[in-house]
Amino acid sequence: MRLDAMDLEQLEALRLRLIKEYDKYREMGLGLDMSRGKPCSEQLDISEDILQALNTTKDCFAKSGLDCRNYGLWDGIGEAKVLFGELLDIPPEQLVLGGNSSLNMMYDTIARAYSFGFFNSPRPWCRESKIKFLCPAPGYDRHFAICRLFGMEMINITMTPTGPDMDEVEYYVQHDKAVKGIWCVPKYSNPQGITYSEETVRRFAQLQPAAPDFRIFWDNAYAIHDLYEKGDELLNIFDACSEVSNPDIVIAFSSTSKITFPGSGVAIMAASPRNLEFMKEQISIQTIGPEKLNQLRPVRTFKNADGVREHMKKLADILRPKFEAVLEIFDKELAPYGVGSWTRPRGGYFIGFDTPEGCARRVYQLCKDAGVTLTTAGATFPYGVDPKDSNIRLAPSYPPISELRTAMKVFCTCVKLAAVEKILEG
Ligand code: PMP
Repeated sequence: MRLDAMDLEQLEALRLRLIKEYDKYREMGLGLDMSRGKPCSEQLDISEDILQALNTTKDCFAKSGLDCRNYGLWDGIGEAKVLFGELLDIPPEQLVLGGNSSLNMMYDTIARAYSFGFFNSPRPWCRESKIKFLCPAPGYDRHFAICRLFGMEMINITMTPTGPDMDEVEYYVQHDKAVKGIWCVPKYSNPQGITYSEETVRRFAQLQPAAPDFRIFWDNAYAIHDLYEKGDELLNIFDACSEVSNPDIVIAFSSTSKITFPGSGVAIMAASPRNLEFMKEQISIQTIGPEKLNQLRPVRTFKNADGVREHMKKLADILRPKFEAVLEIFDKELAPYGVGSWTRPRGGYFIGFDTPEGCARRVYQLCKDAGVTLTTAGATFPYGVDPKDSNIRLAPSYPPISELRTAMKVFCTCVKLAAVEKILEG
């Protein structure tokens, strides 16, 4: 029976039953962590071959003859650019390959904008009296952390099932010169698993910003991370931008973190020739060259884009049952009560969950006290403040499936308990 159809007596009886259930879980002394989207060891082990990719000195030379053990090449090796260019459908010459972390490249891009601006900036961002950044929310907490560290003002943008609310985006971008950028996770977004629609991507490409140096930070972290044979389709933003002669507005990022090893892979940045030329002046002074042996490893192991796609299927075979287990438990434990709503992503690393309004922090705390650690309630919003106190990010990848099931059952009990308490409070 749905909670909203229950009378007070039924709600009170349910509350007592849920407390009993909850106490039983607490007595189990659980210690389950579902807070971050880390691959599990089984996924990492699938990439074992990559450790054998470079065995001898002669393996360390790029096609060009460059000794990858040595200094040089600020933007990464050619064959790795060809591989990632094909996977992301971006010409290799528009790519810069870095160390293992795309988040690091995003941070550096912001830091350079503060110090030097972009090629068409009136002045470096640090000389502006105020910098504002648009933050589609729920979103990725580490994006918001970068804004916070640099003292930007973050503006919440509503997320819809087709991506950020583009009326809101256009309004701010076109009317406010202090708005210098927006975070986007366009495919299988963190945390809702939403893929932007074709119309959304086209409207992004057509933005006419008040600030000449406004940039879209297109964090395509889950570009090839489908859970099913047929994945979501994302329109290529570089093509959409070219069609409307607006090539400089976007800088894209991706990485092999969820393809091979998050701690030891390759980060990728893509930008227009004019953006790249300007950034090169600074990046080539920041470093004499990135870690290039790690750039060779995926090329040697997977050979080509199809090799990577095959590998992604094996990873999906591990991840998909975990997503399905979570959704099955929600359908069984929550849907009949009409409590909460959740996304059904077809890829990526997260499921977005909304408790009834005003319950997320309570659910987080109840779970924590029962030994289940979730991503902190509020973390998916700028400043850690969820205006409705309802969003919780669920990361099913790390725990073994049996632990995941237990954690999700505890979670469902906590969601129902918090919801019943809220109604009874009136
Ligand atoms: N962007 C998004 C949207 C992510 O979810 C993550 C990982 N959780 C990252 C970036 C981090 O990427 P990297 O490992 O390349 O720094």
